[in-house]
Amino acid sequence: MQNTAHPSKNLSRILEILEQEYPEARTALQYRTPFELLLAVILSAQTTDKQVNRITEGLFRRIQGPRDVLALDLSQLEELVKGCGLYRQKSRQIQETSRVLLEKYNGVIPDTREKLMTLPGVGRKSANVIISTAFGLPAMAVDTHVMRVSKRLGLARGKTPVQVEEELCRMLPEESWTATHHRLIAHGRAICRSRNPACSACPLFPLCLHPDKPA
Ligand code: SF4
Repeated sequence: MQNTAHPSKNLSRILEILEQEYPEARTALQYRTPFELLLAVILSAQTTDKQVNRITEGLFRRIQGPRDVLALDLSQLEELVKGCGLYRQKSRQIQETSRVLLEKYNGVIPDTREKLMTLPGVGRKSANVIISTAFGLPAMAVDTHVMRVSKRLGLARGKTPVQVEEELCRMLPEESWTATHHRLIAHGRAICRSRNPACSACPLFPLCLHPDKPA
């Protein structure tokens, strides 16, 4: 029988199951410093994490900070990142972000969302990823997986990522924001895929409010 209870009644059980299924969920992007994470996040737009890791393996051998970026011509930077989509645009963003980092932040990656969002190529979702992953601060980054899975489960109804972020942050304890973000992504990749979600194999099936899941 379909579960039609208010989502918040199922919340603690949903969080428990996500924790059991994806206890170690974390970013798949490889990085050693906040600067490297920043570059990996910029490169990850419309590119798989696997592909970004392939590119950054070589890129991070050449570039460890914003001064290294600015020592390169734009065409040299493009050559280093051309394995990902939108590489020309991303190269310009990396160059411009490196300039702003040196001029405004003394070359140090800021640890607030507001300041991170002043960097070209860094939107709200990326800023949330950086503060939570690089600095361990509570944040709920809403990407396409978090948006889709949380709405299907009935945890959020918002139409925009910001609305969904606000709903999830209101509902969830602050200390679980980051882990839940990673677990919703893991579930979205493994089971609750955009097309053909594997509902029959989903451990959240009895709690899910997705109207199109099989009866
Ligand atoms: S039951 Fe289906 S729609 Fe609901 S969370 Fe699981 S896979 Fe996604």
